[in-house]
Amino acid sequence: MSEEPVTRPVPARRRDTRLDAYAHNYAERTFGMTASAIRALFAVANRPEVVSLAGGMPNISDLPLDVVSSTLSDLVAERGTQAMQYGAGQGEPMIREQICEVMRLEAIQAHPDDVTVSVGSQQGLDLLTRIFCDPGDVVLCEAPSYVGALGVFRAYQCQVSHVAMDEHGLVPEALTEALAAHAAAGRRVKFLYTIPNFHNPAGVTQTLERRERIIEIAQAAGLLVVEDNPYGLLGFDGDPTPAIRSLDADNVVYLGSFSKTFAPGFRIGWVLAPHAVREKLVLAQESATLCPPVFSQFAISAYLSRHDWRGQIKQFREMYRERRDAMLAGLQTHMPAGTTWTRPTGGFFVWVRLPEGLDAQAMLPRAVSARVAYVPGNSFYADGLGSRHMRLSYCFPTPERIIEGTRRLGEVMAHEASL
Ligand code: PMP
Repeated sequence: MSEEPVTRPVPARRRDTRLDAYAHNYAERTFGMTASAIRALFAVANRPEVVSLAGGMPNISDLPLDVVSSTLSDLVAERGTQAMQYGAGQGEPMIREQICEVMRLEAIQAHPDDVTVSVGSQQGLDLLTRIFCDPGDVVLCEAPSYVGALGVFRAYQCQVSHVAMDEHGLVPEALTEALAAHAAAGRRVKFLYTIPNFHNPAGVTQTLERRERIIEIAQAAGLLVVEDNPYGLLGFDGDPTPAIRSLDADNVVYLGSFSKTFAPGFRIGWVLAPHAVREKLVLAQESATLCPPVFSQFAISAYLSRHDWRGQIKQFREMYRERRDAMLAGLQTHMPAGTTWTRPTGGFFVWVRLPEGLDAQAMLPRAVSARVAYVPGNSFYADGLGSRHMRLSYCFPTPERIIEGTRRLGEVMAHEASL
């Protein structure tokens, strides 16, 4: 072996050590890690005078805190030493059974052995990407897509390829075309990431026919489908649409979460995956966390056993429906001509298309000065497109504030259009 020191050229963007003594040391993958525009917005958007239609925080003020409190104190008194101990890498058996019961509401038949508990569904997505993707691998996702998923894909140096959607969700023909284009270019597509219900940010829902068609296409192409479904039980009209996973147990990995149906602070989500994938996931989970938070799992498990969680979800649905109605009414009254928007039947978000010539990114500082905040559409695209759109959330402010927010926004847009 040579004694010569190895001197690899340092890329230019690594050289600046004035502000960071370790600038030479970071892994390549950190170059793709950028601050979320939403996080940057939080500080201003959370000022009390600003109506924030930006953040997607669940509104948990209706939770029965007395029930949660007695559940937690009984848990500590009765099973504290077990609940505060390390646990299984896959998650606790009891909660995995209850998760299967929750998923049955969306027509999913699953075995608890195939469920892996994660730190929110966000970590589920991180683990999945970790086990499937090498740098440069292609991941398909809707245009637009969830900003947190794009962040994960960037962190693993994936190539994100957007697939068109319309008011019925992902367009199957666009999926076929994307697969053909990647195949022709010799690129391996690792999976399709899709949010079928009350899409974040687009607010649309895939019809059952679309889901069936997507599965047909995926089966024919040998494509894995990753179904991310944190909002599925928060629909305003009738029963939930059967999950994509209910149509195919072998080619779909399903991500679920208690963040929107209970509370995000416990950070408990899950991944339902075919057996072989589940084995890899558990190994990845063990190396990432040893085990998902045991206390949170016990707490949620006890809440589910002791409380009418279905009734609680119903209450959440009514509360969000009222806010959705306020937002649609506010938009109808206050948006200038040429503006269009989606009409969500559940979840938290409306996707607004601005009149020709307006740019949501450029307009944001003016909107914040007018005391209203939103997320510009380009945050939801890997390629920086989308700034003629904005995401509005109706989950958190009161209905009156939502209407006032749309009024302020309408004024800013009308002023902008007149410039
Ligand atoms: N997927 C989507 C589409 C989301 O909107 C969110 C939260 N905003 C998540 C995943 C992550 O949720 P959690 O980690 O809290 O389960």
